[in-house]
Amino acid sequence: MSQPSAHDVVIIGGGVTGAGIARDLSLRGLSVLLLEKGDWGAGTSGSSSWMIHGGPRYLEFDWDTTRLSTTDAGHIVTIARNIVYRVLFLIPVLPHDKNNIERMETAMEVYDRFQPLKKSHPHTRLTPEEALQIEPGLTRDMVGAVTMEEWGVDPHRLVFANVQDAVSNGTRALNHTKVVELLRDGGAVIGVRYRTSDGVYSEARAKVVVNAAGPWVPEVGHMAGVDVQLRPAKGIHIIYPHRISRFAISGESIDGRDLLMVSHAGFTLLGTTDDDFYGDLDSVEVMRDEVDYLLQGFERVFPAIRKFRPVRTTTGVRPTLFKWRRYEDELSRRYRIFDHAADGVDGFVTIAGGKLSMYRLMAEETSDAVCRKLGHQSPCVTATRPLPGSESDMEPAEELARRCGISALAAVKLQSRHGCRAAEVLDGAAAGRPGVSALRVDLAPARRASCAPPRSSAASSDGARPSDSTRSAILCNRRGLDARPS
Ligand SMILES: Cc1cc2nc3c(=O)[nH]c(=O)nc-3n(C[C@H](O)[C@H](O)[C@H](O)COP(=O)(O)OP(=O)(O)OC[C@H]3O[C@@H](n4cnc5c(N)ncnc54)[C@H](O)[C@@H]3O)c2cc1C
Repeated sequence: MSQPSAHDVVIIGGGVTGAGIARDLSLRGLSVLLLEKGDWGAGTSGSSSWMIHGGPRYLEFDWDTTRLSTTDAGHIVTIARNIVYRVLFLIPVLPHDKNNIERMETAMEVYDRFQPLKKSHPHTRLTPEEALQIEPGLTRDMVGAVTMEEWGVDPHRLVFANVQDAVSNGTRALNHTKVVELLRDGGAVIGVRYRTSDGVYSEARAKVVVNAAGPWVPEVGHMAGVDVQLRPAKGIHIIYPHRISRFAISGESIDGRDLLMVSHAGFTLLGTTDDDFYGDLDSVEVMRDEVDYLLQGFERVFPAIRKFRPVRTTTGVRPTLFKWRRYEDELSRRYRIFDHAADGVDGFVTIAGGKLSMYRLMAEETSDAVCRKLGHQSPCVTATRPLPGSESDMEPAEELARRCGISALAAVKLQSRHGCRAAEVLDGAAAGRPGVSALRVDLAPARRASCAPPRSSAASSDGARPSDSTRSAILCNRRGLDARPS
């Protein structure tokens, strides 16, 4: 085994939270090692609903989560402006819904007060005729509808943009690298032992180790002998390979939960469930009855849904903070930072709970806690500093296409992933070769920008491998989808 490397901070977990902390701390001038056992964002972040939202639902029981996530969503959509997009929801109200149209509109009026924080527009109320005119697939059994505007993002790209910026500010980032043990000196945690994808074990020393392992937080906590209790909740989505509706649509499940159907980047995602999870986090399966639950709820608002053929499912486990409550759906999405010095374990900090929509704030507060421990004084800059690809306005896609000799579709696709860096990506990867496919040019620069070593040399060199949402997509399973009508 080689000599241990030394860092100010080691972060365990390359989901949106860990990547956000690595970016924040490296921008504050600290030396950081970020370790992820899978691909960037391949945990809960990658299996989310792809929404940067304020969560109007939480207004009923957790007002503060709506306020915090709307405020932070405002920062995220500013720093990631070239990779986020507006998502307009239609929420049809049916005769026996939990909320009648007046209650629904009142809720939206309250949510409208938060909307400017994330640069979204207020709601509109529609008659059934108006709703059907703009979205003919909706049920006719409707008393009216309201609109609600949120933001969408590819979580893989968001995580990778954070990793990319962290790396360009000095972070050493290794994916496919699992932390297997915490190094101890008496009570304190002084580093980690990790295994790279080719089975080589190494050690890294750190003044502070951050546990940002999402639903795996308790498992990593046990390595230090501390007990962080979560109430993990499983959620699934059904994926269709194309757009199904003009707008995003929200519906109500049999138990009164909100379901959503949203088109992202040319595919449609229908979800989600929210069930207590007690199984193996590394092997979460989708059940047929979960798929049926979603279809049953959704066909009430969109009767033709069973005519469309899904291609796969995704599943993830929310790292929800523990609380004894009747319904999983009513659990707070708040987060908590634990300095385990209080448990007699110095040098070890955990961040648990929260949402993708407020990852930046979670990262900022965790980084503040780490800096306090290190006596390091440097302000957070992540609320205003653009992520890679969002530094400047994008040129019109047709111009990029014409200049680089690619199709307009390929240009749009590249820009949706790389923002204003799309041209740089093309120049470097394809040198203006006509007819080059978007996918080929997309993969090459990601590899270069992140100094990614070839798989076989991962142990001998440092570098971040690209997150590849295509690969994650292939890894997602098809269970629960057999024998659906096409
Ligand atoms: C179905 C579903 C839909 C959701 N939709 C939304 C949404 O639309 N909007 C929203 O705001 N929130 C949403 N959420 C919540 C949101 O996805 C999560 O709160 C957030 O992504 C958690 O990010 P994280 O980085 O904390 O965890 P993760 O993304 O799970 O990252 C933790 C990482 O730690 C790694 N890890 C674990 N153990 C080790 C180890 N020993 N060594 C190295 N690495 C390790 C894991 O591989 C993982 O990648 C959704 C959640 C679910 C389940």
